[in-house]
Amino acid sequence: MAIYNRYDMENVKHEILKKRALSAREQVIRMATDGGCFLGASLSCIDLIVYLYSEFLKIDMNTIDSIERDYFFLSKGHDVPALYATLSDLGFFEKQRLLNHLKTNDYIYWHPNKMIPGVEFHSGSLGHLISVAIGVALDIKIRLMNNKVVVLLGDGELNEGSVWEALLVANAYKLDNLLLVIDRNQFQANMKTESLIPLEPLESKFEAFGLEVYSIDGHNFQEIDETFQGLSFNSKRPTVIIADTIRGKGLPSIEEKADRWFCNFSHKEIENLIDELYGKTLKTELTSEKLIVR
Ligand SMILES: [Mg+2]
Repeated sequence: MAIYNRYDMENVKHEILKKRALSAREQVIRMATDGGCFLGASLSCIDLIVYLYSEFLKIDMNTIDSIERDYFFLSKGHDVPALYATLSDLGFFEKQRLLNHLKTNDYIYWHPNKMIPGVEFHSGSLGHLISVAIGVALDIKIRLMNNKVVVLLGDGELNEGSVWEALLVANAYKLDNLLLVIDRNQFQANMKTESLIPLEPLESKFEAFGLEVYSIDGHNFQEIDETFQGLSFNSKRPTVIIADTIRGKGLPSIEEKADRWFCNFSHKEIENLIDELYGKTLKTELTSEKLIVR
């Protein structure tokens, strides 16, 4: 009988996560047609969302309405294809339902909708869900419970003053059950964050607002796992994990391309992109009209 040590088991776990993320990426790419989606940003945060739902958050189909569940808020809501793909892969709803993306007969749309199983709350305007999450985290504290509250924010979203106002409150109430995860893909819309309104030095900004700060590679499951599992949630202050990511990760033809923010590809291009994702072809030639935002 083979004997596996802890190192082997961890490696197996990370390989399973990689496969799950690859499958979720395929589902996200399939949503980038017939109206399209925010593909690049969905691909930058997808490893984080897959990890959160697979390994970190205490929530599944059986605990979806339980008062003891953990809470996840996708504040950068335009990346919702990553959440839909992850939830459907984990059985929160049928994968077939993803084909309803942008159809009028379903809630699968450009922003999270809590009518979909597993989606905790709607999002729309950026910078708002952190305040909702703080309300939930404070309520949990008042009830002397231990649920975790996790909010995923975009780096461009940090331009919203409401984020920093909310952090003042989170610090004032010592909400150590609150975890922010920043998808630091260096872009907001079709511009680099640092060329529009610079965020750096980001770590020290969060530290100045009283948060416990970690920085990780947001695509490395070993690093993601070690960091999340090492969090104490009893430091009397909120935590933030700044995850360095690549917009469009997995598709070299769109990775870090400013004009591939929103993508609406032809069906043929989608099939080529999926081949590219699985390494069956080299970089795909894309001809669909690029979205230029000025
Ligand atoms: Mg960004």
